[in-house]
Amino acid sequence: MMLCLVLIGCGNEISTETQIQNIVWSGSIDENTELFDKFMKTRECLKETFPEAMLHEGYPNVNLVIAPIVCGDNLKAFGCTVFAIDTIEIMNSLKSTWVPSHENIHWLTGTRDELSPYFSCTIF
Ligand SMILES: [Zn+2]
Repeated sequence: MMLCLVLIGCGNEISTETQIQNIVWSGSIDENTELFDKFMKTRECLKETFPEAMLHEGYPNVNLVIAPIVCGDNLKAFGCTVFAIDTIEIMNSLKSTWVPSHENIHWLTGTRDELSPYFSCTIF
């Protein structure tokens, strides 16, 4: 049941224009020590508490952006997961907060916000 919900929970797209204007760093999450540490903690937490929710192997791409971004219906999001290109967008100023973990949970589980209350793995 969870798997069905997960597979139809496609990600939010953001406009190319917004991405290009606001990016200050772009790369794989394993190229950024701070974000990778948060990613691995989130992954371990999900593995322990909700192993059946883990869908993705490998690592997402990351765009660090300087301003709130357009993410689906949310015009001023702090982060966004774009499943179509295996990418998470994170506001650079918030990369030490809960935001990266939140987006990692989206990417690792393929779920949208309606289902994220199931996963209490937000690492601060
Ligand atoms: Zn979310």
